[in-house]
Amino acid sequence: MSTAAPVAPARALAPLLPLAVLGHDVRVPLATGGETTYAALDYAASAPALRRVWDDVAAYAPYYGSVHRGAGHLSQLSTRLFEDARATVARFLGCRPGDQVVFTRSTTDSLNLLAGALPRGCQVFVFETEHHAALLPWRGHGTVCLPAPRSHEQAVRTLDEALADRDRTRPALVCVTGASNVTGELWPVSALASVAHAHGARIVLDAAQLAPHRAVDITALDVDWVAFSGHKLYAPFGSGVLAGRADWLAEAEPYLAGGGASRQVVTREGGGGLDVVWHDGAARHEAGSPNVIGAHAIASACTALTEAGFDALAEREDALVRRVADGLAAVPGVRVLSLFGPGAPRVGVLSFVVAGWSGGRLAAALSAEYGIGVRDGLFCAHPLVRALVDGAAGECGGDAPSGAVRVSFGVGTPDEHVQRFVRAVGELVRRGARLDYVVEDGHWRPARGRG
Ligand code: PLP
Repeated sequence: MSTAAPVAPARALAPLLPLAVLGHDVRVPLATGGETTYAALDYAASAPALRRVWDDVAAYAPYYGSVHRGAGHLSQLSTRLFEDARATVARFLGCRPGDQVVFTRSTTDSLNLLAGALPRGCQVFVFETEHHAALLPWRGHGTVCLPAPRSHEQAVRTLDEALADRDRTRPALVCVTGASNVTGELWPVSALASVAHAHGARIVLDAAQLAPHRAVDITALDVDWVAFSGHKLYAPFGSGVLAGRADWLAEAEPYLAGGGASRQVVTREGGGGLDVVWHDGAARHEAGSPNVIGAHAIASACTALTEAGFDALAEREDALVRRVADGLAAVPGVRVLSLFGPGAPRVGVLSFVVAGWSGGRLAAALSAEYGIGVRDGLFCAHPLVRALVDGAAGECGGDAPSGAVRVSFGVGTPDEHVQRFVRAVGELVRRGARLDYVVEDGHWRPARGRG
């Protein structure tokens, strides 16, 4: 039998078959003429929806109703679905008895919610390498910004020393990412958690990039809170999660004041204002009509990923990471960004710079000439990218004339997308772009009427 070559890719894809994503067959125009199938390689920004999530949302849609508000059948059904979603997320994260799962809009929202619930005088310790969502919410809380470590050991040592020096009369929180949105590298979360706890501090895990790629178990990691976003977890319906210890959340003012968070509101005699009794539990921080579709979508993704098994997903993703890393290493002038050095374990996220190329021009050429969607710039992690890319400049949000290029992938990424990406970078760098590119409104685009 001579079937060895064709069998290999089919076997490699097998674990992903139950986890198809939407959009893998979308056709896009090329600026060089014709069209091609879109290669979505920007999962770290927003991942495509799992088909299973889409189907689950569509199946529920006719039964959509208000949550925690109506006496009608569909309202009861929707309320049950919302609370079932909470229980599914709690299981997905391995929550402890008494932990709370609060549905938010996103990781940014979750971390801002926690920042608003910090006890008086709380000091926050955070590495400068964090995404802005994990770096900025603590401003005004005596934030201690730790320098970028160059190894796991250094990260643990740096935190240990910083916490040893802290004022023990004040509560403290450490915020750390599970996987970097720039380098994709994994962080030593459980070692950092034990250092935090040894010094009487608490720790929140920013799992925005970790949860889509690896099992996140709040109990096994021994972190106090976990935050993640639905749209990076193949569930793009506007929900996120903050899960963990209930006490700080229970003592805090509600994140939003309004219906749902309030148990009782009475007017003071003589028109002297309002007295409010707030709810305990998750409802305290979920004022307004909850996003039941978003919560249902996240729960559906949690179930699908758990059933597929993170070990199988990670094994397949590791193979794609190796293919991209090896492919880029063979292209002259390419430097893959890394904090922890070559071979450090990472999820399916790699950023790189190319000598003589602005990141924006390369990303524009990948899109215009090859139908490949990647991201360029500073990835909302300005201090980290600046530290890794000498002199990189630009703004978060797409108008960066320079910075790095980031390729990211995960469940449902076909081998062909990754192969096309590696080939395209090689061709562009060796042969040059076929079109001219200019910056318009802060974005690189093919020059009109050229090429
Ligand atoms: N944390 C990390 C590591 C991220 O990569 C991101 C988004 O890219 C965020 C937090 C913020 O996530 P969101 O934009 O969904 O709030």
